Amino acid sequence: MPVKSYFLPQSRVADFDQFRAVYILEGSLINETPMRIGMGRTEQLGSAADVPHIRIRRGGEEVPYIPGSSLKGAFRSLVERVSAAIYGADSVHPPFDFKRAEAEYLENRICPTCGIFGSTMVASHVAIRDSLPKGSAVIAQKTGIGINRDFGGVQPGAGPFVEEYVPPGVEWTFHMRVTNIALESESEDDPRPELLRFLLSSLIRGEIQVGGRASIGAGVISLRNIRALKRTLNLEGRLVEAEVKLKL
Ligand SMILES: [Zn+2]
Repeated sequence: MPVKSYFLPQSRVADFDQFRAVYILEGSLINETPMRIGMGRTEQLGSAADVPHIRIRRGGEEVPYIPGSSLKGAFRSLVERVSAAIYGADSVHPPFDFKRAEAEYLENRICPTCGIFGSTMVASHVAIRDSLPKGSAVIAQKTGIGINRDFGGVQPGAGPFVEEYVPPGVEWTFHMRVTNIALESESEDDPRPELLRFLLSSLIRGEIQVGGRASIGAGVISLRNIRALKRTLNLEGRLVEAEVKLKL
């Protein structure tokens, strides 16, 4: 009898030639604490701050936003931690360990995290849009002194600098698409539904952080008013859409 494994065969992961189900998850993100998502060492044009918050053009103005890639990175590391806790340290690896990702693919045992978020060998089953402020955007500034290694670009001993941040309580759009992972499933032959439900519960509980200064509690985000739509094909091959309630 084969040993039950949390690793996934290629056929479960390289499955974009099939359409089983697509879930659209929407709601509002709230940054519960001050948040700053920077540009790393890249200079951002048009900002007077030394440590600016990342912005995007919306209509005629530049507004702060939360890049989908930042959310995806934070979600992936949470899923790695949970996977390691449930299935053991061997079930995870650093996201940029391309050798391991390749070996997993060739050995037909892909780890649950890559099975959700993808790797150099398999496409991601989740897509997360940039989150934009739902109302008017607020960026505040404060003057800092000294050096913190979170601040790319500020030299030691450079003296006072201006840091931008988004004050707590801003409401942001949230849009995440999950393809071909049965989110409501309680079956044990695929670890991904449970991991994704755990991720969403953690997000609702405000246990995920994005951006800089995480060690002092910045960038705590929480998800409110989540709504899940499921798109499937019916027996006639027509696309049907229904709201589903996830146990979170
Ligand atoms: Zn992997």
